[in-house]
Amino acid sequence: MRFDAARAENGLTYEIRNIVAVAGKLKENGIEIVWENIGDPIAKGEKIPEWMKDILTGIVHNDASYMYSPTQGMDETREFIVEENNRRGGAQITKDDIIFFNGLGDAIARSYSALRVDARIIMPEPTYSTHLLAEVLHASFPPNSYRMNPYNNWAPDLKELERKVKSHHSIVGILVINPDNPTGYVYDEDTLKKIVAIAKKYDLFLIFDEIYRKLIYNGKKTAMLADVIGNVPGISLQGISKEFPWPGARCGWMDLFNMDKDKRFKRYIDAILNQKMAEVCSTTIPQIAIPRIMSNPEYEKHLNKRKNHYEKLSNIAYNLLKNVPYTIVNKTNGAFYVSVVFNESVLNNRQTLPIKNKSIKQFLEGIVDDNCEHDKRFVYYLLASTGICVIPLTSFFTSLQGFRITLLEPDVEKFEHVIKTITAKITEYVESYK
Ligand code: PLP
Repeated sequence: MRFDAARAENGLTYEIRNIVAVAGKLKENGIEIVWENIGDPIAKGEKIPEWMKDILTGIVHNDASYMYSPTQGMDETREFIVEENNRRGGAQITKDDIIFFNGLGDAIARSYSALRVDARIIMPEPTYSTHLLAEVLHASFPPNSYRMNPYNNWAPDLKELERKVKSHHSIVGILVINPDNPTGYVYDEDTLKKIVAIAKKYDLFLIFDEIYRKLIYNGKKTAMLADVIGNVPGISLQGISKEFPWPGARCGWMDLFNMDKDKRFKRYIDAILNQKMAEVCSTTIPQIAIPRIMSNPEYEKHLNKRKNHYEKLSNIAYNLLKNVPYTIVNKTNGAFYVSVVFNESVLNNRQTLPIKNKSIKQFLEGIVDDNCEHDKRFVYYLLASTGICVIPLTSFFTSLQGFRITLLEPDVEKFEHVIKTITAKITEYVESYK
């Protein structure tokens, strides 16, 4: 190439996918991998019900399903979403307040890339990697964050949020992920109202990632952005990857609130829309499917069945992990992740787990050098020693050492066995070199 045209790297990588390469190497050496790294229910063996497949079969038999959709999305689908939102009685929208994207990941990328380079969004720490990577790519500086506190059930530190918002004038918006990935935390209405009040006080807009909004259990209640936003400008991010679940559809959307109340917010949304126009539209077939699937009488039952399963696994994981020395864990009440945190100074770069296969041992020792994050080192040893593939917590931009597992295993007994193995390996690893 004529000159080095690649944009400068920011040093951040997507560990959820990176670890797949390492696991792949182990698989070549005959290790059976238990994939606990990615939030894809289908990859973990969840079944799509027949009635849903029948709806899609009907759609693919209609030639009109193969066309481009309008830039913001199919009219009928947006009308359906408007009605669902407005029925809640909170902030009201029209179909012009909805924009469809090719997966919520695409909507996230656009949300940050349409911002002025010196405008920042403050985000939870730890945070879901796609938000973090998109924000850092946009600004070329480390992110601003507010801590989710593992010693307080993962509740956000609102004092830190307000302090940072007050002193960092480049912050124009607050990101909330509810229910949260990777912590599984579900916000109560009061906490959400306090965040809205901070946004109002400092003239900020809100981005609420609500992709897990229908996956809440253990009797926990929350509110949606529409319920608490009042007249503050904001974006709710939603999608079907986790809910149907249909991650391969690449279909997510934005609900936009109070565009008419803030000209600057409106200009920002126009910038997003202009990018979208250049791309023509988003995938049509999943959009057509949304109202048909969501209004089907089986849908509620389908969601309830899934929630019951996650609730069961959440309780199994919590009850087994809560008594493990050296770590702390909180009960997950929404989404399908559990994050385990090692107590401070428990980990070092000498601890190991036994690995029988010599070439795997050699391979692993080649990748866990002294610069390796301590939790990543644990995760790699766990993988090589047991085949269980989890994600280090530090890859979600936090200094907390730990790891994230999913609640997606369809086989309850297998899940229990995996968690029991992890609990044993935590102690074995920590005590291998104190
Ligand atoms: N937002 C959150 C909080 C997620 O956990 C995920 C996927 O894991 C996404 C967005 C991305 O969803 P999509 O598959 O629609 O790109």
